[in-house]
Formats: sequence, C-alpha cells, structure tokens
Amino acid sequence: TVGAVALDTAGNLATATSTGGMSNKWDGRIGDTPIIGAGTWADRHIAISGTGAGEYFIRQSTAQYIAQRTKLLGETPAVAGKLAMLEMKSIGGDGGVICLDSTGNMTMTFCSDGMYRGYCSAQTNHTPTVGIFHSEKIAPDDNHVGLS
Ligand code: ASP
Repeated sequence: TVGAVALDTAGNLATATSTGGMSNKWDGRIGDTPIIGAGTWADRHIAISGTGAGEYFIRQSTAQYIAQRTKLLGETPAVAGKLAMLEMKSIGGDGGVICLDSTGNMTMTFCSDGMYRGYCSAQTNHTPTVGIFHSEKIAPDDNHVGLS
C-alpha cells in the first residue's frame, strides 16, 4: 500500500490509499483500500489511511473506528489509532494506520512487524510562496504497539 493523509493551510483534510492487494489473493477479491471507512477515510475532522491485511480492516471498519473515537470520545489520533491496532491484533490481524486531524495531530501506528512511513510539514506563515519545508523518516519501530 501507498497511503497519504494531508492537511492544507485552510484546514482541509484529504486521504489517498493505493494498493495491489495481498499476495496470492483470490480472483475478484476486494480489499479494504477501496472501501471507505475500512482502509480509507477523510472528513472535516480527520484523515486516515491503512495498510495491512484488509480483511481485518473491513471486519473492524478500522478507519471509521478511529474517526468515530476521535470525534465522539475526543480521543487523539494517537490514542484511537493505538486502540485500533491493539484491537486488530487481538482478532488476529496486522497492519498499520496513518492519521492526521484538523489541528495537525498525527499518528503513524501499527501492529505489524514494521511499516515504512514518513512525514513532512510546511509552515508558510500565511505566505504560500515562502515555506519552510522539512521531512523526516522515522525508525521502523517507534509507534509499534506490538502485544507480544
Ligand atoms: N490492505 C491491502 C489489502 O488488503 C493490502 C496492502 O496493505 O497493500 O488489499
């Protein structure tokens, strides 16, 4: 999967998720990626993209699970994302999510063995043509919620 979540300077959120599916998948299988609320979600409050065993994202409605927890319970993306991954692990799944809310809180948490991820942010000081841009790749193991 290649997934992205984005927040613009006007507070608009967006997500995009692309995948080739699972290895040796059944003919005609539909994974979680094209199912809004399973592997992908964005609204005015939060954007979420997932990767991993799609069947579990579908069973859990993972993206909606996180969106609802943050919206209705006031949890941060980090808390809701971690709970989603713990829950996913407990039903035998594995994967990870990237989440970004409208105030810029983000998490990139996973219960799989690893998840390549990175982020960049641009600060424009309200002058779109002048931006400070930085990016950072995070070591594969921080944010790991593993239960073993
Ligand atoms: N989530 C995808 C699927 O189950 C697999 C992936 O992470 O690329 O189709």
